[in-house]
This record gives sequence, structure tokens and C-alpha cells, in this order.
Amino acid sequence: MPVKDRQHPLDGSNGQGRLLLRTLADTHTHTARCGHAGGEDEAYVLAAVERGLGAIAVTDHLPLYWLPEEQRDPTLAMAAHEFPRYVEAVLQLGERWRGTIEVLLGVEADFVAGAEGQLGELLSRYPFDVVLGSVHWLEGWWVDAPGSVARYRRGQEEVDAIWDAYTSTLIQAARSGLFDVLAHLDLPKKFGFRPSRPFAGRLEEVVAAIRESGCAVELSSAGRRKPVGEDYPSLEVLHALATAGVPLVLASDAHAPAEVGFAFSELLRTLHGVGVAQVHLFRRRQRLAVPLPAPC
Ligand SMILES: [Zn+2]
Ligand SMILES: [Zn+2]
Repeated sequence: MPVKDRQHPLDGSNGQGRLLLRTLADTHTHTARCGHAGGEDEAYVLAAVERGLGAIAVTDHLPLYWLPEEQRDPTLAMAAHEFPRYVEAVLQLGERWRGTIEVLLGVEADFVAGAEGQLGELLSRYPFDVVLGSVHWLEGWWVDAPGSVARYRRGQEEVDAIWDAYTSTLIQAARSGLFDVLAHLDLPKKFGFRPSRPFAGRLEEVVAAIRESGCAVELSSAGRRKPVGEDYPSLEVLHALATAGVPLVLASDAHAPAEVGFAFSELLRTLHGVGVAQVHLFRRRQRLAVPLPAPC
């Protein structure tokens, strides 16, 4: 796991405000390759340049490795045979844009309890800059699929049970040592179904597990575009993470080029508000700290 913390080489190197903004990365973006996002690779990079970002991580979904071939929905993730081509394409993109913006090779990988070995083997094949860990799949169903809303509608007792099961899996994901960043930490709130208490009363346990794991957590603006209408994680959870010194990264979870860097100035304001002085990005799975610029 990456634990080294060093300064980004661009920090304040010419004293211009724009350059300070250019130290920021959008650490979570998807392309058309996923089957449910729009836009080609180049359009995302161009959007990141236009927003004045210094780096963009392309983090398409890892093939659904734990499911039998016939159960792998092509609208959720790329097929296994596309994966090497994906890696090659993002590396080439990085070459083409060198000197203008840094393109980081990332992937969003599902954590599935019991399939850690399989995942570790897949991740070890390629030179990733950043691996996002997500819990979308919970004991045979998708936490965040529109088709799962009926399950949340069964009542608060069921909602709390879902959160409890999600929390157990999330803690396992943190402890697995497979991930650099945990994505959309409080994902089961997506459709607006909240637990009686954060993480079914296990917030402290979650924060302690993450702190011990060395994983970073993303502050993601994606939740603003979902029924819940707020960032992942919630302010209360973010405050607990920040207080515990958990490293944070900025993420849009863009599924269209126009969403790259989505609401980042508001994310900066939120981070300032909880007393965070730096954010992070990952290069070759090493964590780099960058001072938080003033909100713009
Ligand atoms: Zn996700
Ligand atoms: Zn994503």
C-alpha cells in the first residue's frame, strides 16, 4: 500500500494562482468504454485541461471478474478482453498529452468478499497510478442500481440492515490492502435512503479501519447529480475522516466530459470548512500531497 507522503513537484513553482489550481487532479472519471458513460477518452482530457486541472485519472470499471461470463452486464463494465486495450489506450493518451496535463492510469475495482485473490492478480498485471475500491455488489445484488430501489423501500429496518451489511463489506475492502482510494464511501444513500445512524451506528469503526489501512477517501461531487443531492461522503462523515487525518482526494465520478471537475470549487470550500489543508493524488500508486488552493 502507498504510504509515502511527498510534495507534488508543481507546488507553487512559479507563484501563479492558476498553477496552484493545476496541482489538482480529478481522481475518478469514466469513458464510453464502461457501457454507461458517454464520451471518448480525448474529450475527458480536453475538459480537464479547460477546467485548469493538473491531472486526470481515467478510472473505467474493471471487468466484472467475480461473475461468470454470461452474467457480466456489458452496460456496467468493459469486457475482460478489452482490459489490456484499455490500459494501452490510457498510457498512449498520457504520452499524447504530456506537457499539457498529466493523464493517470486508474481503474475502479469492485471489492467482493472472497474474491480478493482474483482481484489482486488482475491489478498486479498493469502499472496503475491509482486503484479505486468500490462496494457496489453486496451478497448478490447491486447497492446502487435503480432496480434495487424496491429493496430500500421495504422500510427503515431493511434500510438499516442494508447499511450494516454494506459497512461490514466496506471495512473488509479497506483492510484488503488492494486499494489506494475508497470511492463513494456512503453509496447506499444514493436514492435518499439513509440509515438511522451513520453507517448503521458503526461510523467510528469505519473511520478507524480506514485510518489503519492507509487508504485515502474521495470527496466526490457525484452525489449532487443523484437523488440524494449531496457529496459522497456526507459532511458528518467527512468531518470524522478529516479529524482522524485520513487522506482525501477530489473526484467527480464523471460519466460525461462536461462532468470532469464537477463542482470542484465547492468541494474546496467544503474541505476548507472541515479544516483540511491538503489533498492528494496518486502516481504509480504513491500518494502525493498538494496544498489546498483557495476556493475559486
Ligand atoms: Zn462506483
Ligand atoms: Zn465511478
